[in-house]
Amino acid sequence: MSEIMEMLIRRGYLWQSFEIYGGMAGFIDYAPLGNNLRRKIENIWRRYFVINERAAEIDTPTIGIEEVFIASGHATSFTDVAIECESCGRVYRADHYVKEKLGIEVDETVEAVKEVMEVYDLKCECGGKFKDPAPMNLMFSTTIGPGRGKKGYLRPETAQGMFVDFKRLANFFREKLPFGVAQIGRAYRNEISPRQGVIRLREFNQAELEFFVHPGEKKHPNFSLYANDVVRLVDKFDNEHEMKLEEAVEKGIIANQILAYFIGKTRRFLLEIGIKDEKLRFRQHKDDERAHYATDCWDAEVLTSYGWIEIVGIADRTDYDLKRHSKYSGEDLSVFVPYEEPVKVRKRKIVPILSKLGPVFRQKAKKVAEALESLNVESEPEEVEVEVDGEKIKVTKEFFEVQDVEEEVVGEKVIPHVIEPSFGLDRITYSVLEHSFDKDVVDGEERRVLRLKRWVSPIEVAVLPLLSREPFESKAMEIVQILRENGIFTDYDDSGSIGRRYRRYDEIGTPFCITTDHQTFEDDTVTIRDRDTTSQVRVKVSKLPEILKELLRSERDITEFGEVFRQV
Ligand code: AMP
Repeated sequence: MSEIMEMLIRRGYLWQSFEIYGGMAGFIDYAPLGNNLRRKIENIWRRYFVINERAAEIDTPTIGIEEVFIASGHATSFTDVAIECESCGRVYRADHYVKEKLGIEVDETVEAVKEVMEVYDLKCECGGKFKDPAPMNLMFSTTIGPGRGKKGYLRPETAQGMFVDFKRLANFFREKLPFGVAQIGRAYRNEISPRQGVIRLREFNQAELEFFVHPGEKKHPNFSLYANDVVRLVDKFDNEHEMKLEEAVEKGIIANQILAYFIGKTRRFLLEIGIKDEKLRFRQHKDDERAHYATDCWDAEVLTSYGWIEIVGIADRTDYDLKRHSKYSGEDLSVFVPYEEPVKVRKRKIVPILSKLGPVFRQKAKKVAEALESLNVESEPEEVEVEVDGEKIKVTKEFFEVQDVEEEVVGEKVIPHVIEPSFGLDRITYSVLEHSFDKDVVDGEERRVLRLKRWVSPIEVAVLPLLSREPFESKAMEIVQILRENGIFTDYDDSGSIGRRYRRYDEIGTPFCITTDHQTFEDDTVTIRDRDTTSQVRVKVSKLPEILKELLRSERDITEFGEVFRQV
């Protein structure tokens, strides 16, 4: 086990699920510190992708009925190629196994895998032969209701809930594009052989934004916010670029401003939560790599001990999902978009001759006339067919005239396109932990320190009595109470030497330790110790909440706030 993983388990960040029963690959528990860290990351995500967009967050069921995933294509296309050993029965994900054993990339198709298996005479780890490769669907299926019930699936992404609700959502946004819909929640994928610890999970957390735009729209109104950000890009031909987003759009490396805007925004978000810029890149999917619903996709990838891993996918899903749900549900999922100015169009129309329709069609004449008026024709037909109350009626040309007219059109119906930034919160949380993990030497001793950004640290402040006895302890508890009332995540610890306690909080990433010491009882001051520099300043207890709040939302130096007590 890696050093960091050992620490995360021992200190209460992440635990193996079902540990007392031997555990199960692909599942993790968020222990107290990890849970708090992920929640804080979620709240920052919300600030970026919901509050600072024209967007709303919804929450839909994690189980979906079969119809949803037939329409979305997941029931047929959401597969990986699996290989099963004839002797020991183990099943592997083919592309991962080939990469691990042969060091080569193989296309994720049954044919390509079969060919590689034959050429290299691929064997199972047990030495056994493999059966023919076969696609395996990654969705967990379930039954809703008793007996035979109704077939359902655990959702493989939160996105579908937002497409299925589109009609209501469009109405909520007064049919005005663009608008975004976000969802944070669990997703489930029955990964074939997850062997990458916390990276490949069978139950994981997504934060997704579906940003609906007019199909012709290529611009984002706020692109200027990120246009000058320099970003590391790897395009689909494996060319690397380090350039401003504006330039990447101009050169056609990124197809449009909307994708570039979300690349820029994603990068700023990741930097804010503590991902290192030098270990971050955006990689475009190759043509044969994209999901069945996407026409373009850029992944945010970070460098970790597992190599480069995908933590965010930013995909152009076009109108694929809305069109499919429209087709399978029979509902109209378009929005009406008014033109800036009405346009005049020439139309060939059928004008009914009421004096002739009346005697022949009698009480149906009015409805026949209306049906005729609604027809669009291009030539001068001898006969047309209309439907009245479910009955098809043929009407010959003596009952109508064909006229060319000019009509004013005020708008059009469109099915919006969607750009989707999709965040894997578990991979993000883990990567933040890895990127923050550091070692240095303090007072001649090696120290492990988690340099988390102050605003994501699960325990923000620890209050420590210098000596584990009265009156240091009661005073420390009093301060804990004050800080908690001020909404600061505060811990109290009086066990062991003060040096050991400082080390413990350094290791879990607590940015500040407050210590009550002898002087506290002379002038009502305490020391604040900074995790990163180990410097200490002395401040009045009455000023503590305000100073800590400011320190926790900024990267200001503690020496700005009090008399330096110990400078390192
Ligand atoms: P995708 O829909 O495959 O692009 O997934 C969106 C995001 O979810 C990815 O960028 C990953 O961060 C995350 N993700 C996908 N599959 C898994 C998994 N099996 N375990 C953990 N995170 C995942």
